[in-house]
Amino acid sequence: MRIAVLGGTFDPIHNGHIAAARSVSTTFKTDEVHFVPAYSAPHKQSQESVSAFHRFAMVALAVSNVEGFRVSSIEVDALEKRYTVETLTQMRSRMPDGDLLFILGTDMYLEFETWKDYRIVMSLAHLVVVHRPGFSFREDLAPYCVLKKGQDVTLPAKQATPSVFYLPFVEQPVSSTAIREACRRGEDASAAVPPAVWSYISKHKLYS
Ligand code: ATP
Repeated sequence: MRIAVLGGTFDPIHNGHIAAARSVSTTFKTDEVHFVPAYSAPHKQSQESVSAFHRFAMVALAVSNVEGFRVSSIEVDALEKRYTVETLTQMRSRMPDGDLLFILGTDMYLEFETWKDYRIVMSLAHLVVVHRPGFSFREDLAPYCVLKKGQDVTLPAKQATPSVFYLPFVEQPVSSTAIREACRRGEDASAAVPPAVWSYISKHKLYS
């Protein structure tokens, strides 16, 4: 079993998340991609966000008709802030032998050493860093491998050394912040999110 995990605030989920997950899924031939909405975001405590339950619902709507994509309630069920190291430890204990990949954008990888127990995170899962326009890939943190689109990848058998894969070909200049701001200005941001998510945002007037 090979599972990729994309954690995030998903406030709201957008086409950049979906495109990143699709690229990883295709490149690594994953069996499943688990989207893990945070109950609250460790890195974004200062920002307001809509409830975990609305954010979870939007992710569920976005992935419901995509083969292999799942929404995971592992963090929202905790009803308190969870760190990635805790989530991956829990996932690893449920799946001791499979391959676990953790997806993050170049923006998050730039500050990765500030994450709780980031070295343990690297021992629990292969890191897959996807390019995010405007944020460069850092080369100083760990040995890495830059992948080309369509390249065949062999994962190292053991997690003994950190393995980091960089996918430079993801090009999605969209962010949840830009969507929230557009909604507040009364603009149409429907092109940036799956149609069912836009209907949900409009129906619940989440960001207006
Ligand atoms: P915000 O604008 O509120 O900070 P966001 O758009 O960064 O939100 P998150 O839910 O915080 O969305 O992101 C979850 C994960 O997805 C992070 O690892 C982030 O780097 C990655 N990600 C988000 N948007 C993109 C994108 N456009 N391209 C590649 N990766 C992305």
